[in-house]
Amino acid sequence: MKTKIWGCRGSLPTAIEATSVKTKVFDALKAANGRNFADDTAIEDFMGTELDFPTAGTYGGNSSCVEINTDAEEFMVCDMGSGLRGFGIDSLGRVAAGHERIYNIFLSHPHWDHIMGFPFFVPAFDPRNTIRIYGGHDDIEWVLRRQQQDPCFPVPLDFMGAKREFIHMEPGTDYEVAGHKVSLVEQYHHGTSYGYRFEKDGKTAVYSTDSEHKLEEMDKEQRFVDFFDQADVVIFDTMYSLADAISVKEDWGHSSNAVAVDLCHLAKVKRLCMFHHEPVYDDRTIFELHNETIRYEELMRLDDTAPLEVLCAYDGMEIDL
Ligand SMILES: [Zn+2]
Ligand SMILES: [Zn+2]
Repeated sequence: MKTKIWGCRGSLPTAIEATSVKTKVFDALKAANGRNFADDTAIEDFMGTELDFPTAGTYGGNSSCVEINTDAEEFMVCDMGSGLRGFGIDSLGRVAAGHERIYNIFLSHPHWDHIMGFPFFVPAFDPRNTIRIYGGHDDIEWVLRRQQQDPCFPVPLDFMGAKREFIHMEPGTDYEVAGHKVSLVEQYHHGTSYGYRFEKDGKTAVYSTDSEHKLEEMDKEQRFVDFFDQADVVIFDTMYSLADAISVKEDWGHSSNAVAVDLCHLAKVKRLCMFHHEPVYDDRTIFELHNETIRYEELMRLDDTAPLEVLCAYDGMEIDL
């Protein structure tokens, strides 16, 4: 099972600015320190081994969208943030390669950053395609219709020619979707959000974003420990540093990197993927938060737990389970 991140930014898509690019080029040239490169491969080696991630790359700025299993016969996607646009275009090239024209989309909740990609989802305009939208909320169709109403958007939902189905799911029930066992859990967020667990061929991916877990209330978290149990990856809302989460951003509906590690340790998860990055944080800040999380994981590791690998999502990242 291979999972691909198409959008990892929280709350608002965030474009990279000219000053950030300038800083990256400056840092790269400084690190090169006047050296000559024999060929392009030597440049690529230098970038891969001697430049850190915020210098040679970027976490990207699209809002939430994650493809759960890129090899599934039908497409399997969580959330429809602005990253859905890129996924939609990419998927068209894969239809001929054996994917059925069926898109299964699992919605965490209808906040804008999780639905704003749908009006730009090219497969939704093709009558040969079927789009199934799953979720725990009752009013998803109404929400999507409203998003595309005059005067906010020129193309109404019904202009999109693909077949649409809305499928209500209930926590506590196991569903079968395109050969995957799928279940959901209700989370702590304004208007409620849902996390999803996907299992296939002995591999498990969990997508759990937009949920506020608090370090001082870990006794309430057993149902999440059960839900994450021994997952190969948990993609988790780590929007804030611990300092921000317990001060200025308390009750904003998102979690810290520290509570993510604690929950994953308790659930014996193999990999944590930090997700839903704060739009205010630049690449360097997210990189430092990632390193801080790795150090916290080492400090807090329990005697009977295998090490938890801590990944940090970026747009285009693939996680091979
Ligand atoms: Zn969000
Ligand atoms: Zn939200």
